[in-house]
Amino acid sequence: MSSILSAAHFHNEEAAYQFVESRIWANGRICPHCGEINRSGALGGKSTRIGVYKCYGCRKPFTVKVGTIFESSHVKLHLWLQAIFLISSSKKGISSNQLHRTLGVTLKTAWFMSHRIREAMRSGNFAPFGADGGIVEADETFIGRDKTIKPKGEKKGRGYQHKNKVLSLVDRATGKAKSFVVDHVNAETIVPILKANIAREARVMTDEAGQYHYLHQHFAEHGFTRHSKGEYVSKTDKTIHTNTIEGFFSVFKRGMKGIYQHCSHNHLNRYMAEFDFRYNNRKALGIDDAERADILLKGVVGKRLTYETAY
Ligand SMILES: [Zn+2]
Repeated sequence: MSSILSAAHFHNEEAAYQFVESRIWANGRICPHCGEINRSGALGGKSTRIGVYKCYGCRKPFTVKVGTIFESSHVKLHLWLQAIFLISSSKKGISSNQLHRTLGVTLKTAWFMSHRIREAMRSGNFAPFGADGGIVEADETFIGRDKTIKPKGEKKGRGYQHKNKVLSLVDRATGKAKSFVVDHVNAETIVPILKANIAREARVMTDEAGQYHYLHQHFAEHGFTRHSKGEYVSKTDKTIHTNTIEGFFSVFKRGMKGIYQHCSHNHLNRYMAEFDFRYNNRKALGIDDAERADILLKGVVGKRLTYETAY
C-alpha cells in the first residue's frame, strides 16, 4: 500500500484540477456564469491555462475554481489539496505556522488558506437534532479570553465573564455536533438557539445550570444531572448524562490550547466549524481520512472569503 500523500493530485497541477472537477462537477460541468450544464468545451492550445473551459451558452471562459474558496488564489490547486487533507485528517487541527512550513507558502497565505478551508467546513443545513424523540445533549464551555469584552463595569465573581463562550449540541443517535459562539450564558440567549436547532419531540440532556431550568416547557423531556453534587449520570435513568458532549469538548479544548493559542473572538466561530466538521465526519462514524477530505472538498463551492471579511 502506498502513502495517501503520494497520490498524483497532491503533486501534479493537472491531476489536481481533474480531482477537484470530478468532485465539484460530479453531476456535470456547470458554467458558473450562466448555469449551463455540460455545454462547454476545454480550451486547447499551448498558451491556455490548465482547466479552462469555454461555455457554449454565454461564451465566457471558466475553471472549476470560479465561485469556490480557491477563486482568486494564486496558490497552486495541488497545494490546496494538501492543505485540505492535512487540516481534515489531523484530529486537533493544524496551525497556520505548521501549514506555512509544510507547504512552503508564506505565513500570511497559510493563515488565509486555513480560514478559507474552515469556511468550506461550515455546514449550514442540518436537520433539527433529536428528531423522532432522540436524545440531544447541550452544554457550554469557556475558552480563552474574549478581548471584545471590556473588564470595566463587568460584575465580578464569576470566573468566565471575560472568556469566549461556546454552546454545543450533540445528537446522540447520529453522533453529530453543532456549536455556537454565544455572548451570554443565560436563558434569553441559550433557549432560542436550542428551540431553533432541536426537535420539539427530543429528549434534552443538560447539567443543572439555571439557563436550562425551563426546557421541559419546550421539549418532550428535559433530563439533567447535578454536577455540583458529583452526579454525572442520573441514578434513576442511565441515559441522563452529558458525557458525549464532554468528550467533544475535551478534543476541542486540547486542540485550541495546543494549536490555536491566539484565536481571537471574531474567528472563534470558524474554529468551531472546524471542530464540528471533524467530529461529524470522524472515524468512529466510518469516515476515513480520504473520505473526510472529499466531503470537505464538496463544501468549497459558494464559500468565497476575501481578506476584508477574513480580518
Ligand atoms: Zn455560461
